[in-house]
Amino acid sequence: MSYDVLIAGAGFSGASSARILAERGKKVLIIEKRDHIGGNCYDFKNSRGITLQKYGPHIFHTKNDLVWDFLKRFSDFNDYKHRVLSRIDDKFYPIPINKTTVCDFFNLDTDTVNIAEVLKQEVERSCFNNPPQNFEDQVISQVGTRLYEAFFKGYTMKQWGKDPKNLSADIAKRVPVRDNLDDHYFGDKYQGIPVNGFTPLFERMLDHPNITVLLNTDYFDVKSSYNPDLTVYTGELDRFFDYRYGKLEYRSLDFRYENLGAEQFQPAAVVNYPGNEKWTRITEYKQFLSEKTDSTTLCYEYPTPTGEPYYVIINSENLEKRELYMQDAQRLEQGKTVLFTGRLAEYRYYDMDRVVLSAIMKVKNVV
Ligand code: FAD
Ligand code: UDP
Repeated sequence: MSYDVLIAGAGFSGASSARILAERGKKVLIIEKRDHIGGNCYDFKNSRGITLQKYGPHIFHTKNDLVWDFLKRFSDFNDYKHRVLSRIDDKFYPIPINKTTVCDFFNLDTDTVNIAEVLKQEVERSCFNNPPQNFEDQVISQVGTRLYEAFFKGYTMKQWGKDPKNLSADIAKRVPVRDNLDDHYFGDKYQGIPVNGFTPLFERMLDHPNITVLLNTDYFDVKSSYNPDLTVYTGELDRFFDYRYGKLEYRSLDFRYENLGAEQFQPAAVVNYPGNEKWTRITEYKQFLSEKTDSTTLCYEYPTPTGEPYYVIINSENLEKRELYMQDAQRLEQGKTVLFTGRLAEYRYYDMDRVVLSAIMKVKNVV
């Protein structure tokens, strides 16, 4: 069988590209090295009837109508609105930092406090580069040293295995600071979890007569057997070029599961731990889809330097290397023979919606 398009990877970037190309009449083969579709958004039900997300907690959120309209074709989404708490000792505080966080932390009265003034004073008594040069400066410039040390420093050192001074300020910009009572994690117009989970969404997206999926197969092992007009590559950028400019860094995670007899363990689906615990966060998955079960399953996340590449690490060393790889990638993209889309192939800290948008835009350019 011959294919017009070969796609490496069945995550959001590969699956979205496949669907768009298939609808334009292209015969598409997706090659996926894992034993399932969905990339890092893959989920499944465990023996207790709880939907677990194998690669960590995923909540869909976007402002983009194009992306939302595209995905809604394959699943409805529930009205879950993500709220995260940060646990310090035995107290829970809202994250992102908002009025409640600041008042609870400094023992202030929410009815009378002028929160903007408190934060201004916190920042004024702190030391940092202005304009901010790195993650630490960025957070301190918004909330001051005391809140930074309580909620960000420890979490960030665990998450990235690096001093926050050696991480990009852009990472901190993902998390807003609020002077009101809003405790939503995301501010986007559209939010939720696919009503039956992410995997059924992917199954519908890939259910098209022009799409074939080959699991358990590494693209690099079989690519010479095919001669497609176009390849869409969604794996690691440096691997595509055989590491010619050196290895890009990725951060991985170990997941530890725990089953409890209790109906509910924690007051939010995700609780962050910025303290000395070895894990960064605990997810209680049943809360995402409001699953009614007698027991609960928790997932603890332990960041590690080796393993599956879940996070790109945004600092100057990696960005310089990325630039070299991207120049080569862009040359291939200009020839319209290869597209690089997604979190790994573009080496960007993309959320799901950005990955889907990138696939839509890049594919539109070549077809
Ligand atoms: P991936 O999902 O990584 O898919 C790439 C696929 O390519 C994988 O299945 C991989 O096995 C396959 N592959 C790679 N190389 C090869 C090869 N050589 N041959 C064959 N197959 C190959 N985003 C949000 O919007 N909201 C969230 O709440 C959120 N939470 C997250 C939590 C965690 C812990 C992580 C790690 C990410 C989170 N994200 C979240 C980001 C989200 O996971 C990504 O944006 C999205 O999954 C990226 O899709 P992708 O297709 O680019 O990459
Ligand atoms: N962060 C933190 N404390 C928190 C939440 C986030 O220090 O309670 C920092 C941490 O460095 C994290 C980054 O902000 O990696 C971005 O947070 P986000 O929630 O976007 O991370 P993700 O969900 O992608 O793991």
